[in-house]
Amino acid sequence: MSTASSADESDAPRYSLSHVSRKRKGAKVESASAPKRRSQRIASQNSDLTVATSQLRLSSSLNPSYDLSNLVVSDTSANMDINVETDTNVDINVETDTDTDTNMKKEAKEANEKEKKWWAGEGSLGSLGIDEKRLPLILARDVKYNNFMTRVEKIKARRYFDYRNGTITIIELPTGPHEATHVQLSRQFISAFGNARRQDDVVGWGAKSLFTNLPTNEYEEPDACFVPKRLLTQNPALNPCDRDGNPWPTIIFEVASSETLAHIRRKVNDYWLRPNRCEDVIVIKVGNWGTRRRSRNGTTRRPLRRLRCLKFCRAETLRQNPTATTFDPIEEIEFGSVFANGRESYFCTGPHMKWLTIDCDCIFNGCPQPLPSFYHIASSRPFMIPQFPYPLANPGVAIDLFDLQEAIFDAMGPN
Ligand SMILES: [Zn+2]
Repeated sequence: MSTASSADESDAPRYSLSHVSRKRKGAKVESASAPKRRSQRIASQNSDLTVATSQLRLSSSLNPSYDLSNLVVSDTSANMDINVETDTNVDINVETDTDTDTNMKKEAKEANEKEKKWWAGEGSLGSLGIDEKRLPLILARDVKYNNFMTRVEKIKARRYFDYRNGTITIIELPTGPHEATHVQLSRQFISAFGNARRQDDVVGWGAKSLFTNLPTNEYEEPDACFVPKRLLTQNPALNPCDRDGNPWPTIIFEVASSETLAHIRRKVNDYWLRPNRCEDVIVIKVGNWGTRRRSRNGTTRRPLRRLRCLKFCRAETLRQNPTATTFDPIEEIEFGSVFANGRESYFCTGPHMKWLTIDCDCIFNGCPQPLPSFYHIASSRPFMIPQFPYPLANPGVAIDLFDLQEAIFDAMGPN
């Protein structure tokens, strides 16, 4: 299933950087995401005072294009109150967070008879009635690709399944938190283009079918993806993602709840970041629920959940290591309310504490020069100027992960 269409390797590259990785195909794999490099990058984002200062004028409220008071996102202070004094069955979710990196190797379970029957039938995903904790779950083996596609197309659920060498695994479910996460992240990202000129706009393609092999009809679906309008002017694209000649989107969002990071990494390397395809893949890893923590007076209970944002960036990986042939996250941002060991954390208790940034260069990669260049802060709390550190070191979009966290906590419902 990791077969790539021949167009990937033979067409003129959309990006000059892709020369490098193709030349070294099959070479020794070297990770470009050593922790040291990652921390250096984060440090450089936060400490470049010169850049930050020069950006202040851009985000000034004098410029209506960057009106910080006109931003998307719910009133997060109200969200906290909703969770107060709801019900008292706190101890139902006593399970501690086991969502450490060890579950990268989480083995898939085998389906029981009822679940196998579901696959053989025609029922929708909802009628499977499966507990998310059983995922990933192997539903069938020795299935022909066409039969697999017919079944998942009927229920419009390609992105919740994995097909590999005839084996069908269900890897994710359209749960409230899973769907709320990519919808909220998409909403924050797209808000950056609210005032963009028409030609500088970005089109949201949602979970569009992206053909990883056109001749064999194989395709994958991300949770959400985005393409700059400027890329759509050349049709057919050099390396189209569908039969209509559309280019690959530059930005992909993936939410992994029961899906393992190992599976995501494989998708990134086998499909999304192959030459002449996407630029950035943003992964939100949603951990298991822990018990809510009571405040001292017992009236408030804080949801406990480990949340991580992993950013794969093709260009940055190749900048750090020009011979890289595989892509690992260049940044891993912990937000949420617990550490890896399940203990409560306080590193994302309010707005402006944790940022995801996406560079204009990545969003508009492959577009005719000059690329659009702007600074946009997507946060429910206006970003008062001057403020330091400024989240954006380069032109692009900064997304306040606190807002995303609160949307995920809301989707969890009272517990
Ligand atoms: Zn990038």
